[in-house]
Amino acid sequence: MEAEVTDVMIDTIARFVDDDVIPHVNEFELDDTYPDAMVDQLQAFGLFGATIPEEHGGLGLDVSTYARVVEELSRGWMSLSGVLNSHLIAAQLIGQFGTEGQQQKLLPRMASGELRGCFSLSEPDSGSDAAALRCRATRDGDEWIINGTKMWVTNGERAGVVALLAKTGDGISCFMVEKAPGPEGDGGISISRHIDKLGYRGLETVEMSYVDHRIPGAALLGGDEGDGQGFRWALSALELGRINVAARGVGVAQAAFDAALKYSKERKTFGKPIAQHQAIGFKLAEMATKLHAARLMVRDAAARVDAGQRADMHAGMAKLFASETASELALDAMRIHGGNGFTTEYLVERLYRDAPLMIIGEGTSEIQKLVIARHLLAEER
Ligand SMILES: Cc1cc2nc3c(=O)[nH]c(=O)nc-3n(C[C@H](O)[C@H](O)[C@H](O)COP(=O)(O)OP(=O)(O)OC[C@H]3O[C@@H](n4cnc5c(N)ncnc54)[C@H](O)[C@@H]3O)c2cc1C
Repeated sequence: MEAEVTDVMIDTIARFVDDDVIPHVNEFELDDTYPDAMVDQLQAFGLFGATIPEEHGGLGLDVSTYARVVEELSRGWMSLSGVLNSHLIAAQLIGQFGTEGQQQKLLPRMASGELRGCFSLSEPDSGSDAAALRCRATRDGDEWIINGTKMWVTNGERAGVVALLAKTGDGISCFMVEKAPGPEGDGGISISRHIDKLGYRGLETVEMSYVDHRIPGAALLGGDEGDGQGFRWALSALELGRINVAARGVGVAQAAFDAALKYSKERKTFGKPIAQHQAIGFKLAEMATKLHAARLMVRDAAARVDAGQRADMHAGMAKLFASETASELALDAMRIHGGNGFTTEYLVERLYRDAPLMIIGEGTSEIQKLVIARHLLAEER
């Protein structure tokens, strides 16, 4: 996409965030209500097809542009980028590893937002140690039978297709499990629990149980050749997920900085705005510096992916730094707001609740350090 077109798109999203998201978040966030009108607008912008290739009806954005979109949305409300993320991870898996039939069947409807996707790797007993998953798919003639429990499925209720990781034989495979969207589940699938979260509210994160759920043989991603390949493929799709989460961190950190700067110019103590006290000025300087570094790291990781490089290490570094920065800046902004920052009347209270998700989702900070260290040691060899 040409630079000018990209800038116009980002400006349009920024206006939507300023006019239609930020003033209304509290109407949805505190009582955990799905923001239908905001999500309809994401659909109208074409963002359910953000990274889906144009030949399948998507916008075909490169990862650098997608990261800017995610940053802007998260500056307004981080949950909005969560509505898109696992949907686009599922689409990425289909686009990169699916058969032509799977691509033609699923991608155009996913690009329009008519069909929503989610990504289901984690289980109650396996998160960081994802390969220890226990959900199993057993072949039965032309079908597969799924049994197991999946945890933390963001968008799981509204999704019409689940990118599901399950054991097949000794390996792990990825299935595109189609289901009716809704709270009732479908066939042998049930939505067994809605998870009540500290932050990242408004969109659903659920536990899903599969009991003897039958799916057609054609649901195996990549066809018969995909048997046993799913885990490797999922890790590669998580590269996009990590850049998404890192970009969310930048968006939340920007919102925290903006709020802190504004408040520190308005609030007066000892006869002057608190920004004029050197301790607060220094804090603002540190916040702005970390925010700038985080943004550059996300842009660098995204540019590497766009250049066709495998960027696990740089995506991991960006995710590690940007997510920790978001949490630090959310707390700094709360400190600068004094007692007001501890109330639901001020934005920083929500940022403080939303920020830790980025430290956990798509691999915790500890797991990012493991990934980075493994690459450093491999490079040395
Ligand atoms: C709100 C939310 C939404 C989510 N959405 C999804 C989703 O849509 N799809 C999905 O598949 N998953 C999703 N997840 C799951 C998420 O990816 C996991 O929570 C995450 O990977 C951590 O796994 P865990 O919770 O099992 O923690 P654990 O793996 O139990 O880790 C616990 C602690 O131990 C540390 N630790 C673990 N192993 C090591 C090690 N080897 N070395 C050092 N430290 C270690 C971790 O860093 C962490 O601090 C979501 C999670 C949340 C909270």
